[in-house]
Amino acid sequence: MSEEFEHVEKTFVALKPDTVKRGLIGEIVSRFENAGFKICGMKMVWATDDLLEEHYEEHVEKDFYERLAEYMKKGPVVAMVLEGVNAVENIRKIVGETDPTEADPATIRGTYGHISFAHADGSGRLHKNLIHASAEPEEAEKEISIWFEDDEIHDFETAQEEWVR
Ligand code: UDP
Ligand code: MG
Repeated sequence: MSEEFEHVEKTFVALKPDTVKRGLIGEIVSRFENAGFKICGMKMVWATDDLLEEHYEEHVEKDFYERLAEYMKKGPVVAMVLEGVNAVENIRKIVGETDPTEADPATIRGTYGHISFAHADGSGRLHKNLIHASAEPEEAEKEISIWFEDDEIHDFETAQEEWVR
């Protein structure tokens, strides 16, 4: 059983199909492990329309939704539940801005991508930005419950826990 701290929380992350197809799963998961986040749940999922409509509820009516759903179904994604201090906010920082060309080069979207949404729109290409991470604690709670069963989320202590939280 890990100790309970007020600021320790869980967030949801999905490595999108471009990450899986480009063989970047290990590199990207390492970033979270190296920053001291705990992987409490992890699985490969090929998303369905129903799952995506629930996950991207806020975007379903938008112009870009159809392309977004097409992108997210191009291959499997790696779904993860990560735990750490202010995990939602801190992981969004590590992930970077939505449009890879705007993302700081130290972030995941800025390190492993550079495609601008303007280029994608202008050339009929998909908006590939490698990764999803919950933006708010309420969003994290909702997304974890959509993607994971309770018994797929594990409570355990990591070797470095004493030093990273
Ligand atoms: N997206 C897109 N076109 C847009 C805006 C967003 O295809 O004009 C995609 C992109 O993959 C993004 C996802 O929709 O990651 C969700 O958009 P959101 O604004 O929630 O960005 P995020 O939370 O992923 O940074
Ligand atoms: Mg979002």
